[in-house]
Formats: sequence, C-alpha cells, structure tokens
Amino acid sequence: MSLLQGRVALVTGASRGIGAAIARTLAEAGAQVAVASRSGDNPGVEGALAQACDVRDPASLEAMVTATVSRFGQLDILVVNAGVGAYGPFLDLPAADLEEMIEVNVKGALYAVRAALPELLKSDAADIVTIASEAGRRGLPNEVAYCASKFAQVGMTSALDHELRERGVRCTSVCPGGVATDFAMGHGRTPDMPQLAGMMTPDDVAQTVLFVLTRPRNHRILEVAFRPVAEPSWG
Ligand code: NAP
Repeated sequence: MSLLQGRVALVTGASRGIGAAIARTLAEAGAQVAVASRSGDNPGVEGALAQACDVRDPASLEAMVTATVSRFGQLDILVVNAGVGAYGPFLDLPAADLEEMIEVNVKGALYAVRAALPELLKSDAADIVTIASEAGRRGLPNEVAYCASKFAQVGMTSALDHELRERGVRCTSVCPGGVATDFAMGHGRTPDMPQLAGMMTPDDVAQTVLFVLTRPRNHRILEVAFRPVAEPSWG
C-alpha cells in the first residue's frame, strides 16, 4: 500500500501504545516516519528515525524536527500523541500528576506544533492530527484535570484549523474512547473497572488516523469521535 508515499510523518509518544500503532500504520502506508518519546525506542518501524524527545521541552522538540528534516528532507504530517493521564476524585489527585498532565498534554502539544509548523508550512500536503480523547469532548467523573488537558487539545486543534486551513495545513482532533494500552491501566484504574470492558485497540485508532490523512485534499475532517460498542452507559 502506498497511500502516503512521498510524505514524512513525525509521531510523538510513539515508543508504545497508540503512537506506536500509528507509526507502524503510516510506515506501512508508505510514509517515512520519525518516532519521538522520552526513551527514544523504535517500536519496530522499519526505516524509522527514533530519537529521545521530551515534549515538555521545546528545545527537545526542535531538535526532533531538525533531525527528521535532516534525515528525510521534509515534514508533512505531525501526530500530536504523547500524553499522560491520572484518574480519581479531584481532591485526591496529587499535585504532581496535575502538573504532569498540563505539562505533557497541554504545553507539550503546543510545543510540538510550534516546533513542526515552520516545516509543515513548506509542505504542499500538510496535516496535524491531535490524539485527544472522548475526555476532550465532555466532562467525565474522576478525570477533572485530564479532561481539562484534553479539552485544551481539542481547542488548540480547532483554533489551528481556523488559522492554518487557508495555508494548506489540515488540522484534526481524533477523540477515541477507551483503548487497551498501558495508559488505560495507569494511575487509578484497575482491570475490574467497567470502563475497561471491551476497549478498542491501538490499531483501531491508527486506522482512523490513516483514514483522516488519506482524504482528498479538497476537504478536511475536523474531529473524529469513536467509542467501544461494549462500554457501559455513562448517561
Ligand atoms: P501509553 O501507552 O502510555 O503511551 C504513551 C506514549 O507517550 C509513550 O510512547 C511514552 O513514551 C510517551 N510519552 C509520555 N510522556 C512523554 C513525554 N513527556 N515526552 C515524549 N513522549 C512521552 O498511552 P496511549 O494509551 O498510547 O496514549 C496515547 C495518547 O492517546 C495520549 O495522548 C492519550 O491521552 C490518548 N488517549 C488514550 C486513550 C486510552 O484509553 N488509552 C483514549 C483516548 C486518548 P516514553 O515513556 O518513552 O516517553
């Protein structure tokens, strides 16, 4: 398959989970791919540039973009995926977790776009895809700070769409419900929680990202929301 032949993608938070699946899928579709994470691990994407990059640090992202363009000559696609989450009653949320969600999910997303945008604006087919969440579309109990950070990502991406559409950069928020990754089992969640029933897979999200990126250039998808059929009713 060569749907993305000739395009270069940078995926943040791609050492595992959803980001790794997106990186693999884009590479299989013919893109050249750079994968960024704090560990710098390559999740098995052949030909990928893998580099350690902490999205909390603007200089680290700028170095990642520079390395990507040095290796592949251009940058056409940014997938803003790196993210962290912590759940539980708001007053029980440790301050450090609150800070980390804002640092990684909010500031890290803004820094990633700022670092990549000068190169994206040179592309004749540029896309920014933000992996936000259902938590960026409505408030959820025990996810106050996470929801705040994901609403910020959706707001950022919508504002970018308004600002960049006429300059040829399409901007999309991808908003999955529960996806079975390490993240989902992280702070405050346990395997017996009803929210974890029938979760989607990282490949489900990756296929949605591929769909968004391969639409004809005469239109753009602003937001995609999708959730597991098997999830419990949340009202
Ligand atoms: P995951 O399995 O925990 O993977 C997170 C990735 O982000 C890892 O590659 C991690 O690598 C990287 N990362 C974390 N902090 C980073 C930082 N400061 N700088 C650079 N990379 C960093 O999580 P996931 O489930 O794949 O989640 C990916 C995204 O999808 C997140 O934005 C999350 O909010 C969103 N999402 C997840 C779900 C879900 O249910 N899983 C649902 C909707 C949306 P290192 O540890 O090596 O840095």
